[in-house]
Amino acid sequence: MNIILMGPPGAGKGTQSERILDYCSIPHISTGDMFREAIKNQTELGVLAQSYINKGLLVPDEVTIGLVKERLSRDDCKNGYLLDGFPRTIPQAEALQVLAKEISRPVQLVINIEADKDELIRRISGRRVCPKCGNSYHLLFKLPKVENICDACGSELIQRKDDTLESLNVRLDAYENQTKPLVEFYSKLGLCKTVNGLQSIDDVFNDIQKLLDEVK
Ligand code: ADP
Ligand code: ADP
Ligand code: ZN
Repeated sequence: MNIILMGPPGAGKGTQSERILDYCSIPHISTGDMFREAIKNQTELGVLAQSYINKGLLVPDEVTIGLVKERLSRDDCKNGYLLDGFPRTIPQAEALQVLAKEISRPVQLVINIEADKDELIRRISGRRVCPKCGNSYHLLFKLPKVENICDACGSELIQRKDDTLESLNVRLDAYENQTKPLVEFYSKLGLCKTVNGLQSIDDVFNDIQKLLDEVK
């Protein structure tokens, strides 16, 4: 399956990715995770990405597209992909149309997770993440089994540097201005399906599962 997960920061893309990957085994391509890995290793890409991410701004298209192009050309994507947080701009979506065609894996489904600003603030402010495997937890809504420890790999959880109210406001503006137009872009192609992200994690996944079963 060739799937895109879209939605504002904190809507639940990472959380639902974890559930989707239990359901169908395809490579999980999260540009946010890839940038954070590069920042951790202080590669050239990491240093560049950091200067944008810490301010809540999007990393420039040519950089992000280059990263995804390389990732999609690897062998494991011959069986499909789950894109999480890419594309986020119209030029990225246009580039993906070309890349997907090149690997004979056209986008089949765009899952658009919706949530309002008040809920996004609650989710971002309580979010804790695993620096090793990228899993998301929440201080109120999704506690790990052992306090502050990742269920999947045992690492100590951290708060993301960009999960501040200040950065969230910039990210929400970026979402409204640059990412939201993709809903229309993919609706015109008949690919965009919206899911109510205000439900419980299980109920959101139930809705997503129905959409996956339709394309499976
Ligand atoms: P969130 O989970 O809050 O939606 P991500 O982990 O997906 O955020 O991304 C973190 C940051 O990485 C973004 O705020 C942005 O700066 C950068 N980023 C991630 N994906 C992209 C993309 N497709 N284009 C540009 N910047 C991106
Ligand atoms: P995104 O990847 O879209 O930025 P995450 O999956 O990291 O979002 O979720 C943001 C925060 O909200 C995390 O702390 C996560 O545990 C929590 N969360 C995700 N989905 C839900 C939900 N349906 N109900 C309550 N909390 C949720
Ligand atoms: Zn972990």
